Amino acid sequence: MMDSSTPLQPGAAIGILGGGQLGRMLALAGARLGFDVHVFDPEPNCPAARVCDRAWSAPWSDLGAVEGFAGKCAAVTFEFENVPLAALKAAAGAAPVRPGARSLELTQDRVTEKDFINGLGIPTAPWAAVDSLEGLKTALEAVGAPAILKTRRFGYDGKGQARLKTADDAARAWDEIGGQPAILEGFAPFTRELSVVAARGLDGRVVAFPLAENIHKGGILRESRAPAEASASLCDRATAIADKIGAGLGHVGVFAVELFDMGADGLWVNEIAPRVHNSGHWTMDACPSDQFEQHMRAVAGWPLGDPAPHSRCTMTNLIGHDVDAWGDLIADPDVRLHLYGKREVRDGRKMGHVNRLTRL
Ligand code: AMP
Repeated sequence: MMDSSTPLQPGAAIGILGGGQLGRMLALAGARLGFDVHVFDPEPNCPAARVCDRAWSAPWSDLGAVEGFAGKCAAVTFEFENVPLAALKAAAGAAPVRPGARSLELTQDRVTEKDFINGLGIPTAPWAAVDSLEGLKTALEAVGAPAILKTRRFGYDGKGQARLKTADDAARAWDEIGGQPAILEGFAPFTRELSVVAARGLDGRVVAFPLAENIHKGGILRESRAPAEASASLCDRATAIADKIGAGLGHVGVFAVELFDMGADGLWVNEIAPRVHNSGHWTMDACPSDQFEQHMRAVAGWPLGDPAPHSRCTMTNLIGHDVDAWGDLIADPDVRLHLYGKREVRDGRKMGHVNRLTRL
């Protein structure tokens, strides 16, 4: 294996574990910087497979296949946090993996994640780990109601979550999440949701994009507006949170921190995504170096680019049949259309997004 601090040369192969839309946009950014991009995904016809140099397909459990893929790459990264840890570790035996297993392991489980965040002195909603219905009742006494019960693992876009208005909802909520190991979180009475997307280089330098304000519907991100209206001190606080989390993870690459704006109570962290993030898609058209390029630069050990936006941007996700409006959207000169090449439209599926720009 190459000395892990040596910057990759153009033409080197970078491997991406996971070939969804995030993998696709990473592959496109990597290609523009002159890398050969390999993608590994159990689904051969995944969105990234059609834009990369080489697509590899095998189940995640085929660790030999993962190792074979990594062996052809000068560095390996991942596009989503549900890549099995065993697969990442198998890849790490054959190539430098950036970010490393620690970033994945700590953020795959909501309990270890919250523990890590609070351990850095960063506030979150009050929480307690839950392993049984009895445990949920005890947790409710500690955390209070209203509250949200979330599965510890494999939750995304609001899936694996149940809301509790009062302690009487305990049995229903436990049932709703399928009686799995969980975390109970007190309901945060936030004024709005924000996120900070940042990149940490191989040299430990963190470069953050400005805050985005995020609007969710039905647990799915609908819209991000950036840069968010925010005081200098709020921006500084968000950057300090990103710095601490990036360093604490020893992260290399892009990561996102979802935040609750608690008004006078400051910022609470909701969760960390150890990867490029939907709330950073606005950077593709509004910043000199977007989140995908930043990530590939970091993975390659290259200097990070300029994150300062030249425009204000509203990013809107095209979810399910929203994408049918593509003809009108592409005809609008103020709109930048991004489609993910997904062959089948399904309700709730992210099919693409649009960025609407106004000059700063
Ligand atoms: P998550 O999957 O944890 O990001 O949750 C999805 C969405 O549910 C968040 O973006 C919030 O809108 C909401 N949510 C999650 N946790 C809490 C909480 N503790 N208090 C209030 N709202 C929450």
